[in-house]
Amino acid sequence: MTTTAQPPTTTGATPPRITRPASVTPGFLQGLVSRVAGSGGATWPLTEVYTGELLVELPQSTPHDIEQAFVRARRAQAQWAQWPLSKRLAVFKRAHTLFIDNAQTTTDLIQVESGKNRRMAIEETCDPPMVMSHYLKRAAKLLAPVKRGGPVPFLTTSTEIRQPKGVVGIIGPWNFPFATGISDSIAALMAGNGIVLKPDNKTALSPLYGVQLLEEAGLPKGLFQVVCGEGPDVGPTLIDNANYVMFTGSTATGRVIGERAGRNLIGCCLELGGKNPMIVLEDANMDEVVQGALFGAFGNTGQICMHIERMYLPESRYEEFKAAFVAAAESLDVRAAYDFGPDMGSLVSVEHMHNVQAHVDDAVAKGATVLTGGKARPDLGPAFFEPTILEGVTSEMRCGVTETFGPVVALHSYRTVDEAVALANDTDYGLNASVWGTDLDAACAVAARIEAGNVNVNDILATAFASKGTPSGGVKTSGVGARHGDQGLLKYTDVQNLAVLKKQVMGARPGQDYDDYVKGMLSGLKMMRKVRIR
Ligand code: NAD
Repeated sequence: MTTTAQPPTTTGATPPRITRPASVTPGFLQGLVSRVAGSGGATWPLTEVYTGELLVELPQSTPHDIEQAFVRARRAQAQWAQWPLSKRLAVFKRAHTLFIDNAQTTTDLIQVESGKNRRMAIEETCDPPMVMSHYLKRAAKLLAPVKRGGPVPFLTTSTEIRQPKGVVGIIGPWNFPFATGISDSIAALMAGNGIVLKPDNKTALSPLYGVQLLEEAGLPKGLFQVVCGEGPDVGPTLIDNANYVMFTGSTATGRVIGERAGRNLIGCCLELGGKNPMIVLEDANMDEVVQGALFGAFGNTGQICMHIERMYLPESRYEEFKAAFVAAAESLDVRAAYDFGPDMGSLVSVEHMHNVQAHVDDAVAKGATVLTGGKARPDLGPAFFEPTILEGVTSEMRCGVTETFGPVVALHSYRTVDEAVALANDTDYGLNASVWGTDLDAACAVAARIEAGNVNVNDILATAFASKGTPSGGVKTSGVGARHGDQGLLKYTDVQNLAVLKKQVMGARPGQDYDDYVKGMLSGLKMMRKVRIR
């Protein structure tokens, strides 16, 4: 067995002693990774984030493995697409219960592989059941044929029929591996597709468990394949074999995926990064703002695509907020634990911690002030970083313009609401924004001026993301397309226009004078408009 890559795990400090969750046994993990399509013998050492210890050797898929995964998924998909929709949906009714009943085990896996705190991990387990619940209500209506009527009333019909794309390639990130890997597959499967999923190497365990649960619920074996490897190794073969690609990750990788999908003339949905602003209006309730800001900046250790990295306060309330927010950040319980105690856990890896540290160091070198935090905490674990609040961040600094994706937030003051809106929009990104104020009409008026696919009033992100009936995606460089809502399912289908001519009435009759035919056709068009038939 060869090892292809070594994730960085050490910083010189001794990780704390911590007892791994009882469910995370070597046998369980080995069973999970045996689902990965991997034949070449190459593996990647998947480690426990809190300690840096090896959990399991993750098989790495060769291009041949990926092609074979598509062959198996395609074979299973041909049968699956023939199942009556009610039979397909019954799988997800059972899965909904199974996912909730096994949420603690899923949480254990999410925690060992990502290092996030347990409160966030269990919230992540709720996402697939919520998505299932929404589309269980909606799928039958969305996938039903829609009669549109043909060009000639009564004698022609045109029906919009939704056909599955075939096999969908899903590429997921490490920050919400279970939610992105599994939730994004649900609508695709309901619509009759097969799946080949490539999770991030670091966080392959929880999505593999999700596939196991779906199969326990009755998903046909082979329909949902998992391939693993570094993105640039696996991505090209995956995209070249897929009928559609659903990608969640950074904007830089999104461009690579989009280019290849475009060359292959297949559709793709790209859910990318953000540099999300929060605007606090004069009349906001400051206690609520501080609580919201804590989650916005430090929830999931600042590794949520929709989290807040820039805060804009009116000058009149800046000092009040700053004092309360810094005090609240300093009182957060940050540590490694597999219980619901800590407010914040670890970053995902030592490598990522170095990226976050580099953003802070660059800002400080260029004149920013650290109000609190700013340092790694090797005494807590290999990849812990302090909740960090900066002041004086400018667009010359890396963290002023690009996504840091860590527990680092910059405070700014503004004089007028127009200035706040202009500052919030002064970014290439457009994923999420948050506006706080007690006058909801005024807050919504500000929200409408923000260039972002999601805007939450008096919340950070959960209200938008948990509204599964509304499409959620990014604008500008934050994405193409959306998940959730009707388009979150319809994007996984092709439209077939099934048109029927009941009697041969189109075109001139044999021997008919063409001038007469044209006259009749044109007056027919006028008449149909008059009676509003066409
Ligand atoms: P990333 O782009 O580095 O990696 C995402 C996935 O793409 C991983 O599985 C990776 O292995 C794979 N990948 C990398 N290069 C590839 C290539 N050339 N071809 C094919 N696949 C490739 O992103 P990340 O660091 O894992 O995730 C963090 C980023 O994801 C952040 O920017 C965050 O904002 C974003 N994100 C966005 C959303 C959203 O819904 N908009 C949700 C979660 C995360």
